[in-house]
Amino acid sequence: MQLLDGKLISKEIKKEIAAEVESYKSKGLRAPNLAAVLVGEDPASQYYVKSKLKSCEQVGFDSNNIILESSTSEEDLLILIDKLNKDEGIDGYIIQLPLPDHINSDKVLQAVAPKKDVDGFHPENLGKLVLGLDTFVPATPLGILELIKRYDIPTASKNVCVLGRSNIVGKPISIILSQKAYPGNATVTLLHSKSKDLEAKLAEADIIVAAIGKPLFVKENMVKKGAVVIDVGINRIEDKTRKNGYRMVGDVDFDNVAPKCSYITPVPGGVGLMTVSSLLMNTLKAYKRKYERK
Ligand code: NDP
Repeated sequence: MQLLDGKLISKEIKKEIAAEVESYKSKGLRAPNLAAVLVGEDPASQYYVKSKLKSCEQVGFDSNNIILESSTSEEDLLILIDKLNKDEGIDGYIIQLPLPDHINSDKVLQAVAPKKDVDGFHPENLGKLVLGLDTFVPATPLGILELIKRYDIPTASKNVCVLGRSNIVGKPISIILSQKAYPGNATVTLLHSKSKDLEAKLAEADIIVAAIGKPLFVKENMVKKGAVVIDVGINRIEDKTRKNGYRMVGDVDFDNVAPKCSYITPVPGGVGLMTVSSLLMNTLKAYKRKYERK
């Protein structure tokens, strides 16, 4: 069994990005700039935004942290988005989800200019993804692709089971892995809460991508010997042996599943870290597109 080491690979990616940024700066160009919009005080969202912006600093990007009251109206948020769309100094931005209930997330995400949509959530970018055109691939699927590529994992003709059909992970990764290119050319089964014979289907998979948000759901009996297992889940479970009383686990029962796998991602230290470096990759792409147009 070999670990798909998100810590190592994301470090490698950040180093590559930092070198590119340095070379742009040495030519007298400004640094890429990522903005993050956070509405409200959700602690998990605050943590995610903080770690994204810290990573910006590590690679030499400029960043803007825009924090709005949880009572901010949809109209005011849309006005801010319009400003960000027009701001020449900002290459890309993210609207941290979830948004408060009184704001329509779909409406907000559709207002983001596709060329600045570094999260890849805009319908235009998702449409391009479906068509196999150049686009911003959403950060988590992009991180999974980077792991597959950098560990040279073959995907052609493989049976892939994607567990979970969210718009940000399950659906896009299932589309990409079935496209006519590498990583892809796989036969993909997309499983969800209404799927029949889920365990038997998983047990036939050469590659499993688990993204359902159910701690330790994928057990040893659901995984074929030699399978590649990519665990996207991030779940907090009680652990009285820890000082803080909890620990983070994925959707896969790592301890029991890992010995059967050819490759597996740990949680933490796997896909989560890759998601952040993928966001940096997308921001650099938005920046480069801008200069290439000039
Ligand atoms: P969602 O939480 O939006 O959706 C969950 C999906 O799992 C749904 O499609 C649901 O099916 C399916 N599902 C739930 N329970 C079962 C079950 N028992 N059997 C089969 N399918 C089931 O998915 P996300 O992709 O947003 O998040 C999934 C997990 O990944 C979470 O733990 C989240 O924290 C984590 N995550 C991690 C990221 C990272 O960077 N590592 C990034 C994004 C998410 P149905 O559609 O039928 O309801």
